[in-house]
Amino acid sequence: MLQERTHTCGELRATDAGEQVVLQGWVQALRDRGGVAFLVLRDRYGTVQITVDERSPEAVREAVKKLALEYVVQVKGEVVERYRPNEGMATGAIEVVASELELLSGTRPLPFTMSDEVDALEDTRLRYRFLDLRRPALQRNIILRHRAVAAVRSFLDEQRFLEIETPILTKATPEGARDYLVPSRVHPGQWYALPQSPQLFKQILMVAGMDRYFQVARCFRDEDLRADRQPEFTQIDIEMSFVTSDMVMTLAEGVVGAMWKESVGFDIGEVPRITFAEAIHRFGVDNPDMRFEMELSDLTSTLAASTFPPIANAIAHKGIVKTFVVKGAAGNTSRKVLDAWTKFVRNYGMGGLMWGKVSGGEMSGPAAKALPEGMAMADYLAAAGAADGDLLLLGAGEAGVVNTGMGRLRSHVAKELDLIPEGIFKFCWVTDFPAFEKDDDGRWTSMHHPFTSPKAEHMDWLGDDEKMGDILSDAYDLVCNGSEIGGGSIRIHREDVQQKVLAALGIGEAEAREKFGFLLDALAHGAPPHGGLAFGLDRCISILTGADSIRDVIAFPKTTSAQDRMVDAPNAVPLADLDVLKVKNTV
Ligand code: ASP
Repeated sequence: MLQERTHTCGELRATDAGEQVVLQGWVQALRDRGGVAFLVLRDRYGTVQITVDERSPEAVREAVKKLALEYVVQVKGEVVERYRPNEGMATGAIEVVASELELLSGTRPLPFTMSDEVDALEDTRLRYRFLDLRRPALQRNIILRHRAVAAVRSFLDEQRFLEIETPILTKATPEGARDYLVPSRVHPGQWYALPQSPQLFKQILMVAGMDRYFQVARCFRDEDLRADRQPEFTQIDIEMSFVTSDMVMTLAEGVVGAMWKESVGFDIGEVPRITFAEAIHRFGVDNPDMRFEMELSDLTSTLAASTFPPIANAIAHKGIVKTFVVKGAAGNTSRKVLDAWTKFVRNYGMGGLMWGKVSGGEMSGPAAKALPEGMAMADYLAAAGAADGDLLLLGAGEAGVVNTGMGRLRSHVAKELDLIPEGIFKFCWVTDFPAFEKDDDGRWTSMHHPFTSPKAEHMDWLGDDEKMGDILSDAYDLVCNGSEIGGGSIRIHREDVQQKVLAALGIGEAEAREKFGFLLDALAHGAPPHGGLAFGLDRCISILTGADSIRDVIAFPKTTSAQDRMVDAPNAVPLADLDVLKVKNTV
């Protein structure tokens, strides 16, 4: 008969000796030493050793023989101090001598063991997620996720934020991905879209006077998946009225501070702020990893007179030359490694990588050939920041390609050479993003989204094709350990400006009304200046837990091919169901 448990499996200590307890849980381990059986009982809170020996009734000694791993049992017994405590176990000072043992539920043969190290394929783990989630590593992740979200809720509540839900069945929101669509049965031929983010609703909540909003919001984006992406994911979504970007960033630091403090006890400290331009200049990328140095130097002007073809060609085509220096790596970096790094940057479109090894004030290797005639090697080395024993890595070509390639290489080299300190978190803000960029078809698109406010001083450039690329926006991203964990902006709160931005993006009046008429109406009815941001919760938790994959911090994730292996979704539906929806299956 099910009894109320007196304790969880993780909480008994020596001071509980002599107590009669009722415990329930899963059989984690089972050992029978001829007459004495030990079982380790596990629940979410920990593990405890149960002993069945001559002190236990005959019925219990028989019952224990029928157990197997992962059976669910109820044990009643006395807490006894152990002769030899197990230091490696929180409850290791005691054991429970069973006086009653009841099997509550059995199991079919298990596809893998419930330990941190499993050799099962991820596909199998996802199919049996109910077992996978029993593994201590995943339990820790899910518990930490809860802690982090609880910390955020309580922090934002103290800051007078309101948690408000926004619709899931809605209309397309332009975050730049493809929408998931849901057919309407009541309105055949018409479709809802699942939200890519609550962006427009949260802005409307500001117009509605809610002043400070947040939501732990599910977002849906039908994108080609990468390892760290999920078709549905969770954001901590925030919006505030009457704020500057500075005020939003300060608030956001409080949110992240609470999350990091409450879940891993880490104090995030001061968060440096750098502009997008500076990030690209110093790190090549807009999500710089600040845990290590190796910043890039721009040698375009230093080497302007170089006749070495890769350099001269790049400069002749208005390209750039960038380098970074790996301290002390001249002696121990093999050709094989250098070749692999060259291949690495080629993946980012770079033509190649020039390297130079510095010794005795001289350089050897292809990068040495970049030295312009008449220039002293010492000046070249000083500009690059290289000294004896250092390895210099140099790239030349089109600015975007070289920055990305060298920036990614910087992180790759740091990882390969173990230059990244463990267990620390380095944050930075990246601000002042370009508002617009050209897509592959040469059309202007928003770098963030079309509701982001251009900087006041650049407003007049809207629609001027020559100047569009120079317009900066009031947008900001928060980066942690080289990953973007959040981003947002000050929004446009005037209807005329919003119309102008949409027009500059090639969205005519009719299309603007059709797509965002409700927003334009709202902006025309007393909209306060407002701004906000959203954190990618899954990514924050992966960084906090050090999880190998984002799927390890989501209870029920999808595979990289967007399938739920446990429930088997997506799946075919009966034709009759499609008929009701007036949708034709053409596959
Ligand atoms: N809605 C934006 C996003 O999902 C975040 C924001 O601007 O607040 O990236």
